[in-house]
Amino acid sequence: MENLSPIMLGFLGSLAAGSLTAVGAAPVLFGRIPSRATRDLSLGFAAGVMLAASFFSLIIPALDAAEPMFENGAMPAAIVCVSILLGMGAVALMNEKLPHEHFKTGREGPEAASLRRVWLFIIAITIHNFPEGLAVGVGFGSGGMEGGLPLAVGIGLQNAPEGLAVAVSLLGEGYPKLRAWGIAALTGMVEPIGGLLGAGIITLSEPLLPWGLAFAAGAMLYVISHEIIPETHRSGHKNRATLGLAVGLVLMLFLDVWLG
Ligand SMILES: [Zn+2]
Repeated sequence: MENLSPIMLGFLGSLAAGSLTAVGAAPVLFGRIPSRATRDLSLGFAAGVMLAASFFSLIIPALDAAEPMFENGAMPAAIVCVSILLGMGAVALMNEKLPHEHFKTGREGPEAASLRRVWLFIIAITIHNFPEGLAVGVGFGSGGMEGGLPLAVGIGLQNAPEGLAVAVSLLGEGYPKLRAWGIAALTGMVEPIGGLLGAGIITLSEPLLPWGLAFAAGAMLYVISHEIIPETHRSGHKNRATLGLAVGLVLMLFLDVWLG
């Protein structure tokens, strides 16, 4: 492991983290699905990990990367703030544009509405897996094993409940087990792409780094607020969802400080 290049480490680390999506979705193959309350707790955990990761692994490193580039004290913060808003706006725009073209044909009525909601959720999960992979790649690219490992572990852990949530909602729409699992597994495969890019950017083009990191954080924050947290509250398990979020948040914070 010692003589692997940072780019290779970033790719392998994000591939491992992304694969945990498929592992987390595996219960649908065996018909042993955890209760909705348990799923809401674990998806809340995912939201907590992502919240901590977006600040500790994306926004703070973005500020650190921007500071040496400017004399003016306000400039690094301004760049990071603008990039976060651009990241949030980009995902909002995609959310707005995608459904109309792809999901209007076929079924109609309330069934079509629920199918569309499920696919919006899946698209959101897929989109936000890219910045997650990016974060893991940047971690390995800038800090080697020490920089990347806490992120790979944290992001990997929160991918499992996300994979399960995707697979279970597809089962609910009548998809066969294997397809539901396969689609969930695919959403995780965006992570090694992000990982490769993240590790590559930090090694090749440092001036882009603060923009890219903060943009990725914005994309993730949008998905947390717009998709993940509402999903965990939809069935009324608010206390469990918040408990999960609290545990995920402090765990990611701890991992970052301890392993990083
Ligand atoms: Zn996530």
